[in-house]
Amino acid sequence: MKKSKVSTNKILERKKIIKEVEDNIAFLLKDSRVKKIEYQNAKRQFDYVQNIFNEIDVSEANIYFVPYSLMKVKGYGSVAGFYNYSTEKIVIGTDLLLDFTDSNIKAKVTLDETLVHELLHYARHHYNKNNWNVDLEEDFAYGYSIDYFIEKGYSDEDIANNYLSPYLANKYYLKKRNNISVTDFIIDRGLKFIKNSKGRSKQIFDTKIISREDLIDI
Ligand SMILES: [Zn+2]
Repeated sequence: MKKSKVSTNKILERKKIIKEVEDNIAFLLKDSRVKKIEYQNAKRQFDYVQNIFNEIDVSEANIYFVPYSLMKVKGYGSVAGFYNYSTEKIVIGTDLLLDFTDSNIKAKVTLDETLVHELLHYARHHYNKNNWNVDLEEDFAYGYSIDYFIEKGYSDEDIANNYLSPYLANKYYLKKRNNISVTDFIIDRGLKFIKNSKGRSKQIFDTKIISREDLIDI
């Protein structure tokens, strides 16, 4: 009896959070500065993700560029963008490059890179509706973005430093500031992550339930 009350509360709480996020998105998209991004605005990024997911039409994704200052108002100041499952919308903050963490381990990402990352979440969700846990979902999006960075001409060190560092710091719960050994550790992990992720986009992505180890082994 007690147990079912707890789970009912959990469901209600979850519904409340989903509704809050939906309301936040509605608020953000009302702003006159919001720009809807279509295939012709970002062909290279759409094509990159489309090549991984031939079975779905990635160009149908609803993507919005929103002033980052507005995202901050609604509590999204620590992310460059996000994909929302219930509305199936991608929201990306403009006026980047920004720091996306409060530690010394910071991300430097650009709009096109954020777009690829969020489009990967979108496509994954549309291709395979299974719910993945956050770790797996992020390993997937980060891992499958690597080839895009390589195509842009970034070195592995650049990718580890500029893109992966806050993600990996979070993953390993590293919050220390100005700690050189932490930075070395992150770079080392980043390079392993990149090595294991290279060429992933050429693989057939057809697994119903995928284990973390199958995806990115670091
Ligand atoms: Zn993500």
